[in-house]
Amino acid sequence: MERLYSIPIQTSNMNINRTQKLSKPIVDKVAIVGAGPGGLAAAIALRSQGIDVQVYEKAQEFRPAGTGLGLAPNGLSSLDAIAPGIVETLKASGCEVHQTVLKNIQGGTIRTNQTKYLEKYGQPLLTIWWYRLQQVLASRLPSDIIHLNHRCIGFEQDENGVEIHFDGEKSVYADLLIGADGVNSVIRETLFGEGKPNYIGSLCWRAVIKYHHELFNDYELVFIKGNQQFMYLLNVGGGYTSWISRKFSPEYSLSDSADRVKSRILHELADWDESFRAVVEATPAGQIWEGPICDRPTLTHWSQNKVTLLGDAAHPMAPAMGQGANTTFEDAYELGECFADSTNLQEALNTYEQRRLERTKIIQARSALGEMRYYDINTEAANGQREQQMTVNDDFQRWLYNYKPSVSVINKT
Ligand SMILES: Cc1cc2nc3c(=O)[nH]c(=O)nc-3n(C[C@H](O)[C@H](O)[C@H](O)COP(=O)(O)OP(=O)(O)OC[C@H]3O[C@@H](n4cnc5c(N)ncnc54)[C@H](O)[C@@H]3O)c2cc1C
Repeated sequence: MERLYSIPIQTSNMNINRTQKLSKPIVDKVAIVGAGPGGLAAAIALRSQGIDVQVYEKAQEFRPAGTGLGLAPNGLSSLDAIAPGIVETLKASGCEVHQTVLKNIQGGTIRTNQTKYLEKYGQPLLTIWWYRLQQVLASRLPSDIIHLNHRCIGFEQDENGVEIHFDGEKSVYADLLIGADGVNSVIRETLFGEGKPNYIGSLCWRAVIKYHHELFNDYELVFIKGNQQFMYLLNVGGGYTSWISRKFSPEYSLSDSADRVKSRILHELADWDESFRAVVEATPAGQIWEGPICDRPTLTHWSQNKVTLLGDAAHPMAPAMGQGANTTFEDAYELGECFADSTNLQEALNTYEQRRLERTKIIQARSALGEMRYYDINTEAANGQREQQMTVNDDFQRWLYNYKPSVSVINKT
């Protein structure tokens, strides 16, 4: 059976429509583990090619979770190519940032920058709650392909496919397994057995609460810089504020109760202006997440036979550059393209790796360095690269944000 696909190609300054004939999809059945931003975006991309995609998620229900995220032009362009029109929905569910504001811990403004992302890169900077992003993506999929309460515990491959095992649920068989199960990926661990992620020396406290902060306007993203400590305040839409505080801590221990977490972060912010402390005070203790910021070494391969990785499972990175979810959407878009353009699964997975490994390696490295520069830590790597970075920063931003999916969408006709 042959299908017709209409594919508008987007180049840097024009859109061209082309119609391409593609034969039957290269696989029939794909299982994705993880219904986070990456797993859901990949499901949308592959389903649009007529592939039977099933998503398995360990959470028992979709519930408010995760932090506030910044979605940048590279991520939004990828998402819009996968799910045309979705950026408009995300704008309505989150907040379009017009300026970023740097403040000191007394509340004084040090600098204000217009973001200008839309003018420069064709997409805005949006801030949105991880949970809302998940909802928007899930709404683009039939609910019966998302299987909640399915915690993957491992898999086995044979020459035809993969048998995937879940805790207390029946195993399933698929032609391909995509591990989109985040930084503590079971799929990655089963493939490569690396053990725990790498703590990068940055301890984090965060929450999303219904709160209007007196110190910032709706269209601002606020960054407050203290002594080896900082805080972000993000308007994530719907009257919600996301606060994220991080502190340089080469060693760390976690608090043993929710009340202790709250008193600890308030203690860390003891010298800070009352307006910053107020957002933490207004947060119920049980809603504050305390944990280490981690990444992992880069891999030379993401795939083995009929299993591959995507998003944080493939390239977890420090949040300094706000690129984790954005690069995840690039992965999902490229994976979809590789499936559309390849004649068999191995070719598709090889091309996927070729397109993604180098770029994500660079962004991971810059993110780790960026995290330490937040704290003014003079690591050897930072010293060596700082001068060079200053001069290439504009080029780097262009390279990062100007990422444009070359083939913008696959529409079944
Ligand atoms: C403080 C902070 C700030 C950040 N800010 C930004 C930002 O501004 N911009 C940005 O782009 N990124 C940011 N990130 C990173 C971003 O959150 C991640 O990169 C992104 O969520 C990755 O998506 P993912 O789908 O790969 O993984 P995840 O979001 O981790 O989703 C994985 C999913 O898999 C499920 N799962 C896990 N294990 C299993 C299992 N065994 N079986 C079944 N399901 C499982 C989980 O429940 C989850 O739903 C930030 C991260 C942090 C911590």
